[in-house]
Amino acid sequence: MYGEGRMRRFLSGLGVAVCAVLAAGAQGGADIGQTLLQDPSVKAALEAARQNEPRILDEQVRVCEIPAPEFKEGERAQALKRAFETLGLKNVQIDKAGNVVGVRPGLAAHPHLVFAAHLDTVFPEGTPVKTTREGAVIKGPGIGDDCRGLAVMLGVIHALDEGKVQTPGTITFVANVGEEGLGDLRGVKHLFNESMKGQIDSFVSVDGSGYGVTRVGVGSHRYRVSYKGPGGHSYGAFGLANPIHALGRAIAKIADFQVPKEPKTTFNVGRIGGGTSVNSIAYEAWMEVDMRSADDASLQSVDAKFHKAVEQALAEENERWGGQGRLTVVNDLVGDRPAGNTPEGSPIVQAAVSVTRALGLPVGLDTGSTDSNIPMSLHIPAVTIDGGGRGSGAHSLGESFDSTDSWKGTQRAVLLAVALTHK
Ligand SMILES: [Zn+2]
Repeated sequence: MYGEGRMRRFLSGLGVAVCAVLAAGAQGGADIGQTLLQDPSVKAALEAARQNEPRILDEQVRVCEIPAPEFKEGERAQALKRAFETLGLKNVQIDKAGNVVGVRPGLAAHPHLVFAAHLDTVFPEGTPVKTTREGAVIKGPGIGDDCRGLAVMLGVIHALDEGKVQTPGTITFVANVGEEGLGDLRGVKHLFNESMKGQIDSFVSVDGSGYGVTRVGVGSHRYRVSYKGPGGHSYGAFGLANPIHALGRAIAKIADFQVPKEPKTTFNVGRIGGGTSVNSIAYEAWMEVDMRSADDASLQSVDAKFHKAVEQALAEENERWGGQGRLTVVNDLVGDRPAGNTPEGSPIVQAAVSVTRALGLPVGLDTGSTDSNIPMSLHIPAVTIDGGGRGSGAHSLGESFDSTDSWKGTQRAVLLAVALTHK
């Protein structure tokens, strides 16, 4: 009931629908939300989004009960492919990276919006994915992150269809792989660096629950570092360089790094390992290191310090023992998410704020690490929006999604998608 009252309030009092404003080319930016609300086909799409929400929630559950661990998104991808086909998208296919891609042509090829949600979850193979529902609350691993995003994306396609919305530009919908963890944004990297290189004018990802808009992409570099040597008996072979000692030297240096508070830049040695026994000089010692920043220059700077620390520790340990049992180091980059941001005053952020406001929703600008990092780092306009509702426990087995008024999230996604097809 609350929802219906809300709906009426923002649709009444706007006077006669004037679709001519759109035909005349409403500019993106500050007023696009209110302008679009006056378009009859957009109104119809929004109404459809609201009416259809129970089915969107059913889809959210259905998709969520198909496992999609990192690098094993195939089965869920097939389900999305069928959904894209059923909803009438054109050129539906699964690309080389495993992304499901489908096109909704507009009057022109550009502006070309890519509207995405990620398929993968953080949960390993074998995790029970059955969901439970109690009233408005649905529980299950991945139900918000990112089954909500996938369901909202299907809801947007359906709503545009119901409203017979003819967008000026074209929308490519993508259910992409590899957003989480070691997936390392490979799905979106493939879109921007290969399959759709140079063709994308703007990018929206729907990720998780709530109503925020992420415009700052926190970048991260992750490494696995291994010091290696011949190893030997702790007494008999004493005098050999020691990989664990080298690792200790490196960690001591990293622990003393000075980093800026603003932009927030961080470092962490997250895991260490190695050695064979208390009375052996190890033949290997390793660590996993994570560094992050919302600013690419700061990330590069802490990254450079890290490399120096690793090399210095190696040189010091080798020198300490006069080159006996000389060590080597292997430094593997296991995660590379570039930092980036879409300026607050940019048309895409203004459009996101405008449509959020037009629907009477709270406006909040966030920082995060999402698929939008890739376009942001390439200076292509991008935001990640939440999919509505209220979520908790993301990345845990107890994840839940409260669908109270979640249709507002679907409506916001519809409005933003339409807005970004306008010049
Ligand atoms: Zn996510």
